[in-house]
Amino acid sequence: MNIDKLVQPHLLNLKPYLSARDEFQGEAHLFLDANENAYGNSIYSKAWHRYPDPHQKALKQKIAPLKGVREEQIFLGNGSDESIDLLIRLFCQPNQDYIIVCPPTYGMYEVSAKIQNVKIIKIPLTESFQLDLPAIQLAIHQQPKIIFICSPNNPSGNLIDKESIKEILKTFKGIVAIDEAYIDFASPANSWIQQISEHSNLIVIQTFSKAWGLAGLRLGTIYAHQKIIDWLDKIKPPYNINEFTQNQALNALTQNNKVTEYISKINQQKTALQTKLSELSFVQKIYPSDANFLLVQVIDAPQLYHFLLQHKIVVRNRSQQIGCQNCLRITIGTEQENNLLIEALKKFEIKFT
Ligand SMILES: *Cc1c(COP(=O)(O)O)cnc(C)c1O
Repeated sequence: MNIDKLVQPHLLNLKPYLSARDEFQGEAHLFLDANENAYGNSIYSKAWHRYPDPHQKALKQKIAPLKGVREEQIFLGNGSDESIDLLIRLFCQPNQDYIIVCPPTYGMYEVSAKIQNVKIIKIPLTESFQLDLPAIQLAIHQQPKIIFICSPNNPSGNLIDKESIKEILKTFKGIVAIDEAYIDFASPANSWIQQISEHSNLIVIQTFSKAWGLAGLRLGTIYAHQKIIDWLDKIKPPYNINEFTQNQALNALTQNNKVTEYISKINQQKTALQTKLSELSFVQKIYPSDANFLLVQVIDAPQLYHFLLQHKIVVRNRSQQIGCQNCLRITIGTEQENNLLIEALKKFEIKFT
């Protein structure tokens, strides 16, 4: 597949910004090329006074073997939100091109598209929160540039059926972007990362914000064909991943056994919470979840939402989303937090049912 044909035409002649660190790489005694303050700064003296590596080489070296990809197949973004924004800006011409999104799903695909004045085709998920393949196949006739698929899906929590994604990959000639923000909570076999070598139009979006517990650092990843990664590198802000983030993410990557531990704890807590929720009379349905949250249908979601707020507990009211009537999305907390939640829910049960 010719990726250049999918890229916005006006970008084809773009000469990317060359930073000081691009023009000179290697060993030197004096770096007098980037107008930094050689004395340092008022906070940590000799930390952070230099620009960060614009290519994040050390970080990519660590991520590549962990994910079973080549460094050239990795793009790092300032959170997935930057990744999503750059994907839309790379492929979609404003006021002309379309993307497909499948609600209920993550809101940023739509927001990023709207900011760029890119058109949106919405193909709602089925009742069991799976892709509506016939409707997607029909919409493909409009030649959308990108289809965003979120798996496990936010807010429903389920993985998207592999066969239906395979079907799309068979026929669709645009970009298939699979957002795997929650993939670490499902079994690794469910990731599409290993298929990026087979399909040059397949993009996998992941993040350090969820299982890795680094939401505050802002680090997202894209895994894709080298051609796509090269394009993203051309249009990204030169220093999009700051030095502190690169540094701390490297630290986290060397201690990744902790992550595995947290994932299994969270998944255990999820099962425990599911059981306790199912015993409450006002809970109508708990959707199966491969993520670190539960979508729960109750009798009166707004009422319960406000009751919990009065008890200083915030959950997400997703009632307004397609297919999520009276649904709250509840993130799995620590054991203690989950117990506090259940206590509050029992009070609600006594008071209102
Ligand atoms: C939380 C989340 C992200 C993460 O976004 P970051 O910008 O990396 O923090 C991406 N996609 C989905 C579906 C999410 O729920």
